[in-house]
Amino acid sequence: MQRGDPVAFGPYWETVRNECTVDIKGDEWMSYLCDTNNLCWYMVPQMRDAILRLHNVVGNVVTKDKFLVLGTGSSQLYQALLYALSPSESSHHPINVVAAAPYYSEYKDATDILQSRLFKWTGDAALYDKDEPYIEVVTSPNNPDGTLRVPVVNSKVDGKIIYDLAYYWPQYTPITYELDHDVMLFTFSKCTGHAGSRIGWAIVKDIEVAKKMIKFIQLNSIGVSRESQIRAAKIIGVICDGYQNLKSIESDRLFFYHSKRLMKERWEKFKGAIEQSKVFTLTKYPTSYCHFNKDFSEQYPAFAWLKCVEGIEDGESYLKKLKIRTRGGERFGVDAKHVRVSMIGTDDEFIELCTRLSNAKRE
Ligand code: PMP
Repeated sequence: MQRGDPVAFGPYWETVRNECTVDIKGDEWMSYLCDTNNLCWYMVPQMRDAILRLHNVVGNVVTKDKFLVLGTGSSQLYQALLYALSPSESSHHPINVVAAAPYYSEYKDATDILQSRLFKWTGDAALYDKDEPYIEVVTSPNNPDGTLRVPVVNSKVDGKIIYDLAYYWPQYTPITYELDHDVMLFTFSKCTGHAGSRIGWAIVKDIEVAKKMIKFIQLNSIGVSRESQIRAAKIIGVICDGYQNLKSIESDRLFFYHSKRLMKERWEKFKGAIEQSKVFTLTKYPTSYCHFNKDFSEQYPAFAWLKCVEGIEDGESYLKKLKIRTRGGERFGVDAKHVRVSMIGTDDEFIELCTRLSNAKRE
């Protein structure tokens, strides 16, 4: 329950397991190279087509006149972007990297692990008061708290912005706009739940940024596994075929319909458990119109962000006593009263979580 492993959608994929099966022969996809006509030379053409088709079906982002950069998960693309957006190596000052708290806990560690001379983690974007170059990471919907976000840095210097849109898919949030930013990150992990394939992509406006990212990925892993790409392309194809072949968008056979219904049911159950416990408060989410589902809907984030009521200072330890593993607020740049709970574990884990939570009573 502590990690965000998106296994919740497994039962759906079981229902279409045969359609999603891929067959790769012993002599296929052996080369380092894939598509030498494409800037992203290690991307399999089927993968590129599938990503563009998916965005076209969902309508969450503008891909026209942009470059697609594929990565081994969006985690690798984050590193590639820090490299690509940093000033040239001759600069003596590492560029500041910030995100508004609570922020995704991995950004800080991923930024600082190599103690780079190019960039350094500087913490909460809302507190940034330097007139120095910066990179702001905007995660929307946000991990851990599910809120929709915009840049918050207030500085005389123009910053560079990375939009991490890992959760901008219809099962988690209404698709309100077709986003059109300069740098946008997506991951297959949270879109379909196939985190083990390690596929992510960046949609990038500036060719120089895309080239630098590709150079980083070339040096880091000489591209992205061809087998993973073939499988991801197949799975995305099955999602899109469903929407093209079925006239109604309301069918449990369609991935986003099914996964949104699952998230909605989980959230309703979860809210009931939290109300019974009287120990936590939950973030409130607005209702908005989803252009994809053609309805008004709330958000159903992949994580619940809980705040303990007065008297409980350390939410993580409090919940540990109830045998609930969470990730405490300090990891996300805020206080220990907050905790993050995963909403995308297995059915059994989720049911057990709700039972244990509803047993949490104020002492
Ligand atoms: N960004 C955010 C906001 C995430 O929550 C995650 C996964 N937890 C990632 C990036 C990393 O995704 P990937 O599996 O593609 O590396």
